[in-house]
Amino acid sequence: MESYKHILLAVDFFEQDVVVAERAKDLADKCQARLSIVHVVDSLPIVDAGYGMDIPYNLDLTAELMASAKNRLAVLADRFDVNEDSRWLEIGSPKIEIIKVARQNQVDLIVIGSHGRHGLALLLGSTANAVLHHAPCDILAVRLPN
Ligand code: AMP
Repeated sequence: MESYKHILLAVDFFEQDVVVAERAKDLADKCQARLSIVHVVDSLPIVDAGYGMDIPYNLDLTAELMASAKNRLAVLADRFDVNEDSRWLEIGSPKIEIIKVARQNQVDLIVIGSHGRHGLALLLGSTANAVLHHAPCDILAVRLPN
């Protein structure tokens, strides 16, 4: 069996990202695979404590969210030795953009949390569920504690 060559880690900046990232990094090291990381800024942003900002409701937030997300992505990517050219910050629908990045970059494994900020305990989150059903490659959904 061939081992994975390009692993894509999807992060939502929820507190359990590190658990998912550790699994992706471990697999990438074992397979000697390229490790990429993706975060998607939702195109319909609501006030979101995950970005570490106090955001008033009535502003066009896209630029601020992108800047904040870029910093957070850099911190995680540095921690897990993800090269600069393997960091993807997209805007849109998370499930669609994650799959698009995977398709365009010959990813053969997506590593994702079983749920995130939108997920329900013990159920597969909506992003994880959609990626599982539409991805062009294998998916590892890392079971997260409640
Ligand atoms: P959810 O479906 O929102 O419960 O999230 C499940 C998993 O999907 C998370 O643990 C992340 O791995 C991934 N995910 C959710 N939202 C995003 C996002 N905006 N950008 C990248 N990955 C995400």
